[in-house]
Amino acid sequence: MRILVIEDEKKIASFVRKGLEEQGVTVTVSNNGDDGYLLAKTQPFDVIILDIMLPGRDGLSILKNLREQKNIVPVIMLTARSEMNEKVEGLNLGADDYITKPFYMEELIARVQAIARRGGGEKFNILQASDLTVNLVSRDIKRGTRKIELTPREFSLLEYIMRSPGRVFTRTQILEHVWGYDFDPQTNIVDVCVQRVRKKIFDEDNKLIETVRGVGYRFYKK
Ligand code: CA
Repeated sequence: MRILVIEDEKKIASFVRKGLEEQGVTVTVSNNGDDGYLLAKTQPFDVIILDIMLPGRDGLSILKNLREQKNIVPVIMLTARSEMNEKVEGLNLGADDYITKPFYMEELIARVQAIARRGGGEKFNILQASDLTVNLVSRDIKRGTRKIELTPREFSLLEYIMRSPGRVFTRTQILEHVWGYDFDPQTNIVDVCVQRVRKKIFDEDNKLIETVRGVGYRFYKK
C-alpha cells in the first residue's frame, strides 16, 4: 500500500510517516501543495492524507483539481479545529474523510483502514513475513499454502507483535494488550501462548518469534 502525505508541518508529517510505516505502508511525504499536487496527479497512491493550509497550492484546490480530472484516489483531510467550513467544503468536493488535529495515530490508522476496506485495499489488511501471511479481515493465516488455525488470543498475540517487526515486546506489554490489565504479571501465560503460536505457525526454530532473554519477544524483521 502506498500513501501520499501532503503536510507542511514537519513534525506532523514525520509522526504520520513513522506511524504508517510501522503498519507496513510505503509513505511519500510532500511539504508543499505544488509538489504534492504533482505527485498526486502523476503517481499511483492508495490513499492521500491532505493538509488544508499549505504553502503553494492549498489542500482544497488540490482536491478539487484531482476530482475534476476524475482522479478518485481516496483522500483524508487533516484539518484544524477552527476549519469547520473547510471540512464541509472538502467533503463536498469529494474528500472521503477528515481528521482533526491533534489526533492519535491509532485514529488515523483506523480511518485509513476503513477507507482501504471500502476501496478493496486488500494489501493493507495483510501482514506478511517470510511465507507467513495473516489476513486481518478474514483472519486467515497461512504458512506457504498450509492453513493455520489460531485461537482468538493466539491470533491477537501474533498480530500484536507482527505489526511491529523488530520491536522488542516485554511480557507485561503483551499481557496487557492481549489479556487486559487484570492478570498477575507473574504468570507464565504469555510464554505458554507464544510456544503454542510458534508450534502452530511452524516456527520451531524461533526464527519468526525470537526470544529476547530477560526481556520478552521480538518478531522477525527482514
Ligand atoms: Ca499546514
